[in-house]
This record gives sequence, C-alpha cells and structure tokens, in this order.
Amino acid sequence: MGGEELYGQVEYRVLSLEQIEEEQRRNIAYVEDMLKLKPESAAVLLRYFAWKKEKLVETYMEDAEGTLARAGIHEGGAQPRLKRVRGFTCEVCYNDETQETLALSCDHRYCKDCYSQYLTSKIMGESESRRIECMAKDCNVIVDERTVELVVEPNVLQRYRTLLNRTYVDDNPRMRWCPAPNCEYAIHCAVAMRSLDVIVPTVQCACGHVFCFGCSLDGDHRPCCCPIVKRWLQKCKDDSETSNWISANTKECTKCHSTIEKNGGCNHMTCKKCKWEFCWVCMGPWSEHGTAWYNCSRYEEKADTSKDAQSKSRAQLERYLHYYNRFANHEQSIKLEADLYARTEKKMDELQEQSTLSWIEVQFLAKAVETLGRVRTVLKWTYAMAFYLEKNNQTQMFEDNQNDLEQAVESLSELLERPLEEDKIAELRQQTTDKTVYVAKRCKILLDDTLRGYEEDRWIWQEPIRL
Ligand SMILES: [Zn+2]
Ligand SMILES: [Zn+2]
Ligand SMILES: [Zn+2]
Ligand SMILES: [Zn+2]
Ligand SMILES: [Zn+2]
Ligand SMILES: [Zn+2]
Repeated sequence: MGGEELYGQVEYRVLSLEQIEEEQRRNIAYVEDMLKLKPESAAVLLRYFAWKKEKLVETYMEDAEGTLARAGIHEGGAQPRLKRVRGFTCEVCYNDETQETLALSCDHRYCKDCYSQYLTSKIMGESESRRIECMAKDCNVIVDERTVELVVEPNVLQRYRTLLNRTYVDDNPRMRWCPAPNCEYAIHCAVAMRSLDVIVPTVQCACGHVFCFGCSLDGDHRPCCCPIVKRWLQKCKDDSETSNWISANTKECTKCHSTIEKNGGCNHMTCKKCKWEFCWVCMGPWSEHGTAWYNCSRYEEKADTSKDAQSKSRAQLERYLHYYNRFANHEQSIKLEADLYARTEKKMDELQEQSTLSWIEVQFLAKAVETLGRVRTVLKWTYAMAFYLEKNNQTQMFEDNQNDLEQAVESLSELLERPLEEDKIAELRQQTTDKTVYVAKRCKILLDDTLRGYEEDRWIWQEPIRL
C-alpha cells in the first residue's frame, strides 16, 4: 500500500506474446545445438517433454532412438513437402487425379485436401496442436509446425500458433496466463505451490490486472493465504442456502422440519403443518413462555452446556454468520465504491469551481476513495482468515489490528460523505489527507504483521490447511 512494498511480496516477470515465442525459440535452439537435431524435431521433442530440457537431454543421451520414437519423430526422413505423384490414389478420398500430396517422414501419403481437412478439424475442432499425429492409423509420427504451414489456411495456422503458445505456458508450472479477458500477457513467478500456506503470491499484469498467482483468484486476497481462501469460498458456496434462509426470514419447524416463514413482528409462531406453537427467537415451546422457569434467551445457556447436535450446529452457524456477514458487507461496500467514486468525481468538479484549488490539489479525494477500496478488500479477507483461526493471544492481536483498521475505515468513509462547504474545504482536505495516510498505514501494519506471522508460524488453524 502507498507504493511501499509489502512484506513477503513475490518476484515475478510479465511476458508478452513476442517474449513467449522468443523463449521457445531459445529453448529450441539450445536442444537443436546440443543434440544436433533439426529445429522441427527439437520443437516436437521439447513439447513432448513439456519443455523440461534437462530431462529431455538426459533421456535422449541414454536412448536416442527410443526417445525419438516415443516422441513421434522420424529424424532420418526428409522434411515433408507438397509433391505431385503420377498414378497416386488417395486412400481417404479415392481421388486419383494428379494433384498435390503430402507425406510425413513415415511416408504415409495422402492428398493435400485430405490433410488440410484433417489438420483443420484437429486444430479448430479439437484445439489440438503439439501432438497431432500422422493420418495413418496406428502411426504416431507428429505433424510439425513447418508441415502445418504447408497445407492449412492462414486463420487455421494462426490458431495453431496460438494453441502452441498456450501449451508452452500451460506446461510450465512457473507460468500462468493473465486471467483478464482478451489479455495476452503471461506471468512468470517462481513460487513453489507447496509454500502457498505461508506465501501469498499477488501479481500485477502489464494490463493492470491484479490476481493471485497461487490460486488465480482475481484481485489481491492478502492477508488470507490461498488454502484458506479456497476453503472459505467453498464454505460460502455450500452454505449459501443457509445464509439466504436467514436473510429470507425463514426457519425450520423443530418438530416436523417443514419450512416456516415469518411474515410479521410477532414471535409467537404456529407451524401450519403440525400445529406446533413455538417462539421465533429461541425456537422453544410457546406454552412455556411466560412461566416462571422459562427464559426466552435460553439458547445462550444451552449453547454453553448442552451437547446435543442441533444446538451445536446452530452455534457453529451463528459463528459462521458473524464472519460471513462482515465479509459480505465489505464486498458489498466495494461494489458501492463505484457509486462513491462517481460522486467523488462530481465533488472534485465542485471543489474546483468553488475554490482556487487546482485539479492536482483535489486529488486527495480520489486517493481516499482508492485507498478505501483497497483496504476494504484487505478487511474482507481478514474475516475469512479469522473464521479459521484458533482462539489464542496471536489471534487476539490480529483481531485488535483488524478492529483498529475497521474504525479507521469507518471514519474515512464518513469524511467522504460529508457535504462540501466552501469555507471548510481546506479543513476537509487536511482531515481527509491525514485520515487516508492513517488508513493506509494501519493497513500496512496489519498486512505486514499478518504476512510475517505465516513465516513465523504464528497462525494456528482450527483444521489442517494444506492445499
Ligand atoms: Zn484425399
Ligand atoms: Zn505415418
Ligand atoms: Zn493482463
Ligand atoms: Zn491465492
Ligand atoms: Zn411443524
Ligand atoms: Zn422465545
């Protein structure tokens, strides 16, 4: 936040399509030179070995012939080219007119049209690229890039190259495509997947998109680590029915389990199906309400002493809803941020009309809105994290930081909604700027401390969290 790097920020590189192609060419040249192979064969081999060139070279050194055969390469054969062969009949279409034909190094020959149709359907229909085999049944010789160039239309060739580039990134566990729509950049990051329980590898693409390299989730989910994020989102999905039920004002009859809806303010409920009368607040029998021994807030007592499964799961549900409501509330506030931003821009126009402040000088409002959005995202994820944390001193300190940040965010949010008064602009500017700096500072404290806590093994989870 505020331009300063956070604790544990991972290193990464953004690669353009040209750079991805250049990397492939470099690797191909390396293998070509090392093993004295044709570049087409080196490329097929590299793709067969998922670009693990050390493993490729080692395997090849042990058994060159076997390795080539398994990868579908006939290194001895000439590079395929289009050829007219008199008296040739294509065994797919039975056309025997003299026409252009093609055979791979295995010498299985077909007419150009058949090959073109075959490759086009593989590329366009099946999105296949690196492992397209010879048309002959049971022949595993791979069609290389130069051969594809000979027979397909330009749009198919372009698609083929896109698919090849895609496999290059997909085959490399240290690379990922930017998930933003229509973005063609890839990110290279050396973080090991097994360390995702202590490192949150947030990256930003050259297109501006921020995402997690570990789990590919959009945005920055720090300080929550990937396994907790995954668990939490799954829980929210599984329990969405329950949380909707709560907000929809429906409960289940404790006798017959049919769904009961609350339509009015009265807590005296009667189940339509089994006629059971109960209290909406505590779900206890209505007949006992008003008697001396009955306490409507029994749930609290019961939660502490009772061992029965239903109240246990209710207590768990209430605990979950505590965190879920706060998580969801920040999420909603972030969505409302778009409105707030629009209002802020209008406010900035007003400011410039009313005072001698320049555009640069009213940037404090834009900065405040931006900071608010980012900090709310951080706060949102702290609730997912807190839900899984064991209660102890470390968690207590984490929640103190969380609470401080909540309060700071509330007061900044309040400042932004304050009406503009001409004679108070200078004061507002000062207060907002100060508060923005404070919020960013508190946020960095929380993030740095929490991220450091992972490495220091300070966070004790209620359940094992390995990915
Ligand atoms: Zn044919
Ligand atoms: Zn063949
Ligand atoms: Zn991008
Ligand atoms: Zn992640
Ligand atoms: Zn009932
Ligand atoms: Zn009651």
